[in-house]
Amino acid sequence: MTTTAAETSRERPASLWPAAHAADARRPRSLQTKIGASDTVCARRAGYLLHGRTPTDAGEKRKAILGTFLHVGMLEAAREEYGWIIERRVEDDTIRGHIDAVQVDKDTASRLPKRLRPSLPAEETTVEDIKTKSPFQWDTVLRHGASDAEVRQVLLYADLLRTEGFADIDGQRQLARLGPLPVGRIRFRFINRDNGDDHVQEMPFSAERARGARWWVEQVRAAQAPEDLPRTFPGPGLSAICDNCPFKTACWGAAIAGQRPQSILVHDDAERERTLAEYVEVSEQIKPLKDRLKELRAQLDGSKPGAYGDNVLSWSGGKPTKADDVDAMVALYRQAGLSVPMAPDAAAMKAQLKTADIPVPQRLDHDRRTAVSINVTVRKKP
Ligand code: SF4
Repeated sequence: MTTTAAETSRERPASLWPAAHAADARRPRSLQTKIGASDTVCARRAGYLLHGRTPTDAGEKRKAILGTFLHVGMLEAAREEYGWIIERRVEDDTIRGHIDAVQVDKDTASRLPKRLRPSLPAEETTVEDIKTKSPFQWDTVLRHGASDAEVRQVLLYADLLRTEGFADIDGQRQLARLGPLPVGRIRFRFINRDNGDDHVQEMPFSAERARGARWWVEQVRAAQAPEDLPRTFPGPGLSAICDNCPFKTACWGAAIAGQRPQSILVHDDAERERTLAEYVEVSEQIKPLKDRLKELRAQLDGSKPGAYGDNVLSWSGGKPTKADDVDAMVALYRQAGLSVPMAPDAAAMKAQLKTADIPVPQRLDHDRRTAVSINVTVRKKP
């Protein structure tokens, strides 16, 4: 029997990413059009989802998919080893979400059927969220912990559990029978996607902060259109979240050649004047800090790498750069019996012209452009 091309590509796929993307698109979160707690990262984006707008951009999803795979493995291990309640739905009339893990307290555990009872109850019922991070984000995680958006998301999960309990749906009816649970704390478990390092951050559950998160959701729900909602992030090229946002084009418009997407925010000369004035003000504010940074950098020159107080010093760079080895190339050509191209020696010709005080002829290269720099000077009063 002959194997068709389609069968061969299924038997020996060059990449598993198409399958991973297809599986990800079928996940409940990817199909969700109601506002979900995990959609509360950006107000404008939450608005697009809530209004059922069709995504305009595919975005790069491989990192997110890897994160999902890691989640599944870690959560399954926590369920098998400790009996944690994992991946469960919580919802009310306005918002819903999937909690990564709940570690119930002793009292709540005693109300569960034996087979669902955890081997390790918590001192107080804890809602846990696992976040996978790249090595580039790791230092920020260790220094600052969860972002405002991440805290908002988990506060919403915890508040839904505290006020409604687990959703009464197939597969978790017994959990739903527990009713609202007394959530005592929330926990973030950050995992470094590169080396597996983990970092745990815990905080008491605060009903007041949860009210703030609910208020944020109410603002999104109250908007007549997504465009009425603020953009939480500064846009493509300045924020990785915007770079990978499925509504990037809806939010910022189609790219204009040679212009940054943020330029759509300035409509007329009055706005240009305000933006320029703020640019000057911010430049003046950061100048002393930049100068001080240069001084401190100079003082640290030659210091040995290592831990000093709360910070770890290391150095990178300082290595010889690579350049084309023309002699080796000529030798290789000769070995292979190829003729060595005899291009004019531009550097020597330029040097000769300069010695003779003759200007070096130049032409415009339209394929390469100089970087566009902004220059602002004080306007002369008439
Ligand atoms: S592009 Fe950025 S600002 Fe716009 S909706 Fe997406 S995340 Fe929000």
